Amino acid sequence: VDESVIEDMRKLEDSFRGISRKYRLINRIGEGTFSTVYKAEQLLPPEPEDDNDVLQESRYPEDNDENKPPTKRRKLSSSSQQSPEIRKPNPPRKPQYVALKKIYVTSSPHRIQNELEILHALRSSPHICPLLTAFRHLDQVVAVLPYFRHLDFRLYYRDFLVSDMRDYFHSLFSALHSVHRAGILHRDIKPTNFLYDHSKRRGVLVDFGLAEKQGTDWQACLCLEHRDDRRERYMSSLAFATQQANGTGLSAGYPKHDSRPSRRANRAGTRGFRAPEVLFKCTAQTTKIDIWSTGVILLTLLARRFPFFNSTDDVDAMIEIASIFGRKRMKVCAAMHGSVFETNIETIGDKGFTLERIVVWASCREKEQGPLSRAEGQAVAFLEGLLELDPQKRLSAKEALNHDFFVRPEL
Ligand code: ADP
Ligand code: MG
Repeated sequence: VDESVIEDMRKLEDSFRGISRKYRLINRIGEGTFSTVYKAEQLLPPEPEDDNDVLQESRYPEDNDENKPPTKRRKLSSSSQQSPEIRKPNPPRKPQYVALKKIYVTSSPHRIQNELEILHALRSSPHICPLLTAFRHLDQVVAVLPYFRHLDFRLYYRDFLVSDMRDYFHSLFSALHSVHRAGILHRDIKPTNFLYDHSKRRGVLVDFGLAEKQGTDWQACLCLEHRDDRRERYMSSLAFATQQANGTGLSAGYPKHDSRPSRRANRAGTRGFRAPEVLFKCTAQTTKIDIWSTGVILLTLLARRFPFFNSTDDVDAMIEIASIFGRKRMKVCAAMHGSVFETNIETIGDKGFTLERIVVWASCREKEQGPLSRAEGQAVAFLEGLLELDPQKRLSAKEALNHDFFVRPEL
């Protein structure tokens, strides 16, 4: 373990007496924008004298060693004590590991409370890494989660077979289904927030730092209106913009002194994983934004390129998406949310490409190798339902789980 990491862990232990009494810090396992995460061993209280009077009770139905959170211990009442003959000695206790998430003090108390509340609300889902407890010392908050063994995405994304993708996404959509059913948007779906254990073919969703209840800061958006009404409203706003532009002598349809109120929408998330409606500042975002992000992960796996999208800002991100979907569909998508998409970049064609073409190109297949296998073809068909520009037509987590990709797999 690096010297600086040891120093860092020592500091945490010193500032948090309660933590060093309960946990032994082992290593730093994650460092993000909002937190630092450490692996630690839970220090258990000494074994009680009469071991056999203690019932080991696990909160977890699945018995998977390391991922099992520390067990709760409860004394049996004397009436239910077993007779001495059938008592067996307790097996030696295995170390229990936890992840200590030290949330940066720069995070607002509201944000921290929101993350802990959402984790608490989702505690019954087996696909979500549960909150065991949390500590606060002055302005420092540490959340305690069971440690979940997983591999870094960068180590396996190139080697994933379609059957591996099926397991990965079945687990991810099961997690999202429980999040969305609870009316919650995760807002930051990406590989580092889905801890996948390849050997168990199971993952857990973490990091609810940006999550929100659906309807938070919600405002009506053009995308909610019927198509015909939408067209009418859109045409009148376009006419307004053109009028403004003519008044200022601009040839393009973008007004110099735009008197319309600027739009504000939640754009939280990670670049490259943001749904088009987030980029176009839709004010009525839904759980479908998470589905788009899963589509970006599947595209990454099929194309064997990570990161697939590499934009530095929202405009770049629109250009990347437009390069695939083409100018025409991008304009329709923008208009849906009351925005205008215009570009003079010549490489962005009118019609764009099919996702199949993109996957074939990006994965650098030789022509002779032929098109995609049947299994890959089915994965691409599934991908089309995830990377659908219109959130209303995009698959939901539940629909995704019922897709042929899982239900009638092509091998
Ligand atoms: P941040 O808000 O800083 O992104 P995360 O909750 O995403 O924080 O955690 C950052 C990283 O720490 C994760 O990508 C993962 O590698 C590691 N991590 C988080 N929780 C756990 C856990 N329960 N078990 C194992 N590793 C974890
Ligand atoms: Mg994270």
